[in-house]
Amino acid sequence: MIPGEFTYHRPSSVAEAVAILANHGDEARPLSGGHSLIPMMKLRMAAPEHLVDLGGIAALKGMSEDENVITIGAMTTQHELINSELLSAKLPIISETSLLIADPQIRYMGTLGGNVANGDPGNDMPGLMQCLDASYVLTGPDGEREVKARDFYEAAYFTALAPEELLSAVKVPVPPAGHGYAYEKLKRKVGDYATAAAAVILTMSGTTVETCSVALTNVADTPLYAADASRLLTGSTLDADTISRAVAAAEAITDPASDGRGPAEYRTKMAGVMMQRALARAAERANA
Ligand SMILES: Cc1cc2nc3c(=O)[nH]c(=O)nc-3n(C[C@H](O)[C@H](O)[C@H](O)COP(=O)(O)OP(=O)(O)OC[C@H]3O[C@@H](n4cnc5c(N)ncnc54)[C@H](O)[C@@H]3O)c2cc1C
Repeated sequence: MIPGEFTYHRPSSVAEAVAILANHGDEARPLSGGHSLIPMMKLRMAAPEHLVDLGGIAALKGMSEDENVITIGAMTTQHELINSELLSAKLPIISETSLLIADPQIRYMGTLGGNVANGDPGNDMPGLMQCLDASYVLTGPDGEREVKARDFYEAAYFTALAPEELLSAVKVPVPPAGHGYAYEKLKRKVGDYATAAAAVILTMSGTTVETCSVALTNVADTPLYAADASRLLTGSTLDADTISRAVAAAEAITDPASDGRGPAEYRTKMAGVMMQRALARAAERANA
């Protein structure tokens, strides 16, 4: 239960952090809130020789809005996401989802960047970012590149991030005013990871769905953007037949593990149930 030995670095700029990562390659790991990495180190499932603490880099904090895109610094904590007036006004689903993560102590330290870079299928933010069609800004020795959340996740703990890169910010397009939203998460107890969870963003024109986006959490090795389900729902009136076809399409892309959260078949069905609940709540909120 005691981590292996490591050298601790505390850079004060992104360039300095990237230089340390580039110097040490696979032997170095960024440290953000530490609420995923430190437990892994204690269990000796991770044993980095160099820890690069991002806590001293002011440029990784804060939020700004430009041309309907909100850019959130990687070191923004889950607590700050919950309390942000900008997000409450423009992207309330981010605050709603953050509130369902772990407990207040973890949310004070856990960061958006750490949550999305981690690659743990149990993390809630990656599926939400896929639902919102967000992009991640990755900064390395040769500068910045952007990767869509929908293209970032390759397998459990494998992502498009190179060892010498930092995830420096998340860019989220703001859905139209009056959009409906909901994140529904089934968990065994407060503070638990999801048995299954679903994010829905939609816009309505009268009783017809104009746009719809659905994503699922913790029912496969990666978060899942439910493209077919989203397409089926778009243009519908959310009638029972379309919903059941969309739920079947979403369930079909799941591949959960059977574990302490339940057998695979149960978790797949719960993904469908979470999606239906999220859809109903999002539709109720649209234009409200
Ligand atoms: C008891 C408990 C319950 C939890 N429940 C939930 C839950 O329900 N839902 C949920 O989503 N999370 C949950 N978490 C995880 C928590 O939200 C973590 O804080 C989060 O997953 C990781 O963020 P962090 O800032 O702590 O990152 P760290 O632990 O510091 O880092 C995580 C990983 O990402 C890498 N990394 C971190 N920041 C960057 C960066 N900027 N660029 C590149 N790589 C980076 C690190 O090297 C490491 O590999 C729980 C944690 C605990 C301990």
